[in-house]
Amino acid sequence: MNDLTCKQAEKLIPSFLNDEMENQTKKQFLAHVEHCSFCLEELSIQFLVTAGMQRLEKGDTFDLNRELKLKIATEKRHLHILASLQRGLYATEILSAAAAVAILLTVVLK
Ligand SMILES: [Zn+2]
Repeated sequence: MNDLTCKQAEKLIPSFLNDEMENQTKKQFLAHVEHCSFCLEELSIQFLVTAGMQRLEKGDTFDLNRELKLKIATEKRHLHILASLQRGLYATEILSAAAAVAILLTVVLK
């Protein structure tokens, strides 16, 4: 997996905020903003502009830092669940392949 540059990460911010991001990209993006305070700040600003304005229009109170942390945490958990699901599927495939071999052997050895 290639690390994103700040320029790339910055360009990705709108798609992250609009939930239009591929999971693989999201993983790279989250990894970047976690270690890059510059991009995290840029993300906070754009988050405030997009999400914050929507909230203000609706008249909701808005805690930017809390909401952004929540969004990042949710996305990370989502990716984690996806990863375990993929591992789970892989394990199932191995199991069914093993079962198929076992059946084959029983047939052949009869
Ligand atoms: Zn950066």
